[in-house]
Amino acid sequence: MRAGWRRALCWAIALIASLSLSLLLPVHAQESFFDSNPRSSDIAPIPQVHPLPASLNRWQPDDQGDYFEQIEPIAMGYLIWSRFPIRVFVEPSDRSNWVDAVQQAIGEWTVYLPLVTVDRAETADIAIWCRTPPLQWNRGELGRVRSAETRFEVGIDRSTDPPLLAHRLQIWLRPDQTANYLQAAARHELGHALGIWGHSLEPTDALYFSQVRNPAAISARDVNTLKRIYQQPTRLGWAIE
Ligand SMILES: [Zn+2]
Repeated sequence: MRAGWRRALCWAIALIASLSLSLLLPVHAQESFFDSNPRSSDIAPIPQVHPLPASLNRWQPDDQGDYFEQIEPIAMGYLIWSRFPIRVFVEPSDRSNWVDAVQQAIGEWTVYLPLVTVDRAETADIAIWCRTPPLQWNRGELGRVRSAETRFEVGIDRSTDPPLLAHRLQIWLRPDQTANYLQAAARHELGHALGIWGHSLEPTDALYFSQVRNPAAISARDVNTLKRIYQQPTRLGWAIE
């Protein structure tokens, strides 16, 4: 248990490091539910399996397989959401291509995990920014190219009783790119944010590691992988003692 907590503290430090890089972003406003400074009395929960959300429970994996072995659990376990709908903030933008791509990606993924858009970044689980990813490469992020990037942070949600070990994600997606690219990148990065923290080796999957001429839609293998991830234990979403 102590070792588990030391890991929690370690991630909190990683979070603080990313905070200092993001001073220009409004996401870390005072009213956030998210506490990045655990107390010494906080004890990280033991890893447990959450019930599957109904939408994933209904999904019947077919014989196309998955790429679960490519997915890396973090120290806290798999990046699994356990409270639904997942709250997504989309930065307002007059770049209609960008907004359309992000909204379409949200619509595609919400078939498998319920998503809802919220109008304040501080109350969101996932914030999507219409900007170039901030410079800096450290733990807790998974980028493909510098035009799109996803990072996670682990902290404590003290808005609940008891408080929960929580995570949240930020996606940066640069707007000055073709509609085709934006579409594929929004779908891909949102897949990371929903828990697919790794890449497929097949170009027919949305989470393929590289850009391709004809980007894939969300494939059966993507969803098979997502479902397997959500069947794994995690410390995230469980009560801090
Ligand atoms: Zn990626």
